[in-house]
Parts: sequence; structure tokens; C-alpha cells
Amino acid sequence: MSLRIGIDLGGTKIEGIVLDGNREAARLRVGTPRDDYEATLAAIVRLTASLETAVNAGSRIPDPGSRPGATIGIGIPGTISPVTGLVKNANSTWLIGRPLQRDLEHRLRRPIRIANDANCFAMSEAADGAAAGANVVFGVIAGTGVGGGIVVDGRIINGANGISGEWGHNPLPWADAEDEGRVCYCGKHGCIETYLSGPGLAADHERRTGVRLLPPHIVEAAGRGDDLEEDQARYVRAIEYQVPDRDGNGTGERIILITTITDWRAAPAAGLARAYHQRWEHEGGNAQLKTYLRGPGRVLRSQSPAMAGQEIWGYLLTHYAISALACAAATAAGIDPDRVKFKRTVRIIRRAVGPAFPP
Ligand SMILES: [Zn+2]
Repeated sequence: MSLRIGIDLGGTKIEGIVLDGNREAARLRVGTPRDDYEATLAAIVRLTASLETAVNAGSRIPDPGSRPGATIGIGIPGTISPVTGLVKNANSTWLIGRPLQRDLEHRLRRPIRIANDANCFAMSEAADGAAAGANVVFGVIAGTGVGGGIVVDGRIINGANGISGEWGHNPLPWADAEDEGRVCYCGKHGCIETYLSGPGLAADHERRTGVRLLPPHIVEAAGRGDDLEEDQARYVRAIEYQVPDRDGNGTGERIILITTITDWRAAPAAGLARAYHQRWEHEGGNAQLKTYLRGPGRVLRSQSPAMAGQEIWGYLLTHYAISALACAAATAAGIDPDRVKFKRTVRIIRRAVGPAFPP
């Protein structure tokens, strides 16, 4: 059987393994040349050569040259765009926009397979790891970056844009509106990755304390109970409660809310738990407004902040009017208003007043 090389191209290290059948024949690790694309290519080529040498040196086959070259699969941060063939969405930003696959195939003189590292990880856990036997698997990564992958029935879900399962570039919900969050390399503000990744945690710690520490040392300090200046600390409250078994089939669950609202008299735990569940109603409303009323991917047309505000008001009023109509109609018909689909309601209205609704 021919040899198989698997390489994990990380933001801080590149690790390679050779499989001879199912046996691990060699494993090597080198540092990632950060911010240098050419050096990264060279490091992968050298690592591959070292792995092949290590295996051939330990092999009893007299002529290593007679053995066919190993097949190579590489897990990378980000993904190869199905449209351009270039790397996108990589937190190792020096790879972005580069023809990594083509360049490596040229240098390694063989076809290679490249996949998103989080997808590789999720697939591996789904195959014979922590999620073995589960039908639907969401693999979560929190390392140099924050990513993930989704496996359903043993197959990776890639998604139309090749970024399924990537939860790190949603903004954290903010405790206060002033704190907009740091700019992320992806162009947005306050992404989860700018806080939960190793570098994000270190940068946040430094911003608050002025002290530069590596993430493991921050965790150690927290575990020791090291003091933090009062103005740098952020107090949180943990509210733990049990949601009863709604369907009677053992689906009850324990929920722990962590909140910066610490005044338990002004905001009792039960009220916060109720508000948390109400939140999903708001999420539903936001989705209706953005996806069905405005249309997916459509931006506001107004050019000035004041007019953009007006336009948003227009959408909100239209959304309110539609919801009120649907609610009244459902009540009159004796059905639960939650069962009236917003999307269908909008479609019916568009048929009646024209496709340019809302104007
Ligand atoms: Zn981001």
C-alpha cells in the first residue's frame, strides 16, 4: 500500500504525519513562518521531504526510490474558493488570495488534496472520535482561530461558499452599545474570534491590564486567583436553571446564563431567564425583517445616516403592520399566530400590491 501524508497547516505550527496503511510511520512538526507565503510553501515542501526521508530511512525496502510517492492531504485554515481556486477566510491572512493548491502541486510534483482544517477535525471526530456514531456533528475549534465544521451522516457539509460551520465571525452580543469590539481581519467588528482565540484572549487581556501574557499563563493566573485591578475586572453573574421536560421524552435541559447584569435586585434571575427565552422571538423577528422583508443580501439604499435611519424605521413599521395583520387574522380564525408563516404572508401581500413591496 502506498504511503499517505497528512499535514495540518496551522497558524503557529505545521505538523505532518505519514500513514503506512493504518500505522503511523512518522510524525514531524515545524513552526509556521508567519506572514510569509513563500516561506510557508517552502516549509511544507521541506516537511514533506523530511517525512518521506524518515519513512524510507526506517524502511527495509532496498530501493526507496521504487516506492511510489506518498499521497498528500493538507488541512488549512480557511478554504479554497470553489470559484477562484484561491484561499479565502483564513486567519493565517498571508494565505488569503493565494493559489496555495496550485503552488504546492507544482512544488511537490503531484496532485494534492486541500480541505478546511476544522472540517477535517469534525470529520475525524465523527468517524472514530468523540462524536463517533452521531448522525449530526458540530466540531468546535478554539485555537489560533475560532472555527468549526458540520458533519451530517458521515459527510462534511461544505455550503455554497465553503464556510459552513464557521461560527467565529459572528459578533459577540455586547454588554454595552459603546463597546463596538475590535476590528477583525475579516472586516467586521467584535467577531467571536477576536476574543475566544488564543491571540484574541491575549490581546484582550493586554488591552485591559497592560500586561502581555501567553494564553496558558492567563488561564493559570485565573486558576490561582491572581488579583485583577478592580477597574479592569468585569464582574459576571452565572444563573443556572432547569428547563422542564416539555415533551415528556427526557428533553429537559439545564441552562447556565453568564451575564454582566449583576444587580440581582433590579434584575432577578427569573426575569433574566424569561428575557433570554424572549430573545429568540427577537431573533425570529430580525430574520423576518432582514431575510424576507428586505431580501437576503440587499443593502440599504439610503446614502446618509439620517435617511438610513428613516429607511430602517420604514422596514420596522412594515414588519409591525404585517405581524399585526397576521396576528389579527390568526386570532379571528382561531389558530395560534405563531403558526402563520411570515414569509408566506409577505408573499401574499406582494402578490396583492406588487413585487416592489415594501417600497
Ligand atoms: Zn471576523
